[in-house]
Amino acid sequence: MRDYSNVPVFILLGPPGAGKGTQAKVLEDQFGLIQLSTGDLLRQAVAAGTPAGNAAKSVMEAGGLVSDEIVINILRDRLADPDCAAGVILDGFPRTIPQAEALSDLLTSYGTQVHAAISLEVEDDAMVERISGRHTCDGCGEGYHETFKRPAVEGICDKCGSTKFRRRADDNADTVRRRLVAYHDETAPLISFYKKTGALQALDAMGDIGSITNELRQIVRPITINVRGVQVSDKITKTTQMEETQ
Ligand code: AMP
Repeated sequence: MRDYSNVPVFILLGPPGAGKGTQAKVLEDQFGLIQLSTGDLLRQAVAAGTPAGNAAKSVMEAGGLVSDEIVINILRDRLADPDCAAGVILDGFPRTIPQAEALSDLLTSYGTQVHAAISLEVEDDAMVERISGRHTCDGCGEGYHETFKRPAVEGICDKCGSTKFRRRADDNADTVRRRLVAYHDETAPLISFYKKTGALQALDAMGDIGSITNELRQIVRPITINVRGVQVSDKITKTTQMEETQ
């Protein structure tokens, strides 16, 4: 088993549409962390037609939660990949108490732990609007939104010029409502779970993306520096200082 004692581990908690994926990508770029999205891993498994993907497909389309066993196995395999030694930011996992307990055992066996579980606090009604309008470019994966972020030229991706866009099968108003119910029933109890472990940090995530990123950086930077140790942290401090002055 690898020694991950200098590996920082962050969790982004929050309902669908809270901005977990968007923020995880920014933190990944700025701090050299690896974004682990069980939603993405499951969508890849569905596309590849693996047994786990086939079992997960209909549950995902209905807006329910895939079984703990499948999700924990997928996460365990991905966490064992060498790139995760850079540090990880979990996006969409854990979503149930048994998943949080399994994660805790897994990280303990690696010699690390959850350093911060950051709860992105938002209002449900706004989430339905946010999610129902979102879509991505088929060419480069750039994210768009019918109301909040349209391409500069209608129908053409700003980044790569593609004219094809796609929408997630589960990003429609009915399914979003079911995903929000699953969040409140199964995932919201994780807020108390991480409050008890002392890892919880709560952020108001109704504001603009840039200010939320800034607040997240204030949490992620000192922990990353501390856990990774001096050598790497110097580089990160300089890099993020440069970014902040740009
Ligand atoms: P996401 O991309 O995180 O919104 O996840 C999309 C869908 O994948 C969810 O609505 C669930 O059906 C499934 N899923 C993703 N992560 C988990 C998880 N940790 N536990 C159970 N189901 C999950």
